[in-house]
Amino acid sequence: MSVLVVAAHPDDEVLGCGGAIAKHAQRGEDVVVCFLSDGVTSRESEADHAPELHRRRAAALEAAGILGVAEVRFGALPDNRMDSVDLLTIARAVEAHIREFAPAMIYTHFAGDLNVDHRLTHEAVMTACRPQPTSGVVTVLQFETTSSTEWRAPSASFAFQPDWFVDIDATLKTKLEALDAYAEELRAWPHARSREALEHLARWRGATIGRAAAEAFVLARHIA
Ligand SMILES: [Zn+2]
Repeated sequence: MSVLVVAAHPDDEVLGCGGAIAKHAQRGEDVVVCFLSDGVTSRESEADHAPELHRRRAAALEAAGILGVAEVRFGALPDNRMDSVDLLTIARAVEAHIREFAPAMIYTHFAGDLNVDHRLTHEAVMTACRPQPTSGVVTVLQFETTSSTEWRAPSASFAFQPDWFVDIDATLKTKLEALDAYAEELRAWPHARSREALEHLARWRGATIGRAAAEAFVLARHIA
């Protein structure tokens, strides 16, 4: 089975589904990670963002190596400004990845994240995964990204209420090692995007289902 992870920024894939990615890879399944934005360009002027961009890409490749990802693709949509690009353009970028890798399973952002790039990535994936007769995508899962998913103001339609869990007891250590590759993106506890917060979340999601550690997802679609 081929698995595609469509994330807005390098680090979202580890935060959201690093344990699940490692589990797929250990089973011998091909996992491809596609980033739509570089995660850097909104932070600094065009002239001096090159070193940070290089470090972010190097971190993504290191994390991918730790998780056992087969292939990584980097997009160039503007960081934290994906709303300056029309949805069709973003969806076409996702469609090209789906055509190339023909995944049965896709992991992407939760529809209700605070981060605008995350929301648009979700929209683009759902647009690209329209269940047409020729579509080979069987499962679409939404992951939670700490410091975005839980930062949205409460709303019935945006509540992250997981209904799909992956036991990551055997791969939590690998997930945290991959997270260390993104040390520059992590913050000190008790920030939501700290190493401790990620481990606590994995433990709590595990306890929710009677396991030592888990990642939680909201199922967008599954065709049995
Ligand atoms: Zn992100």
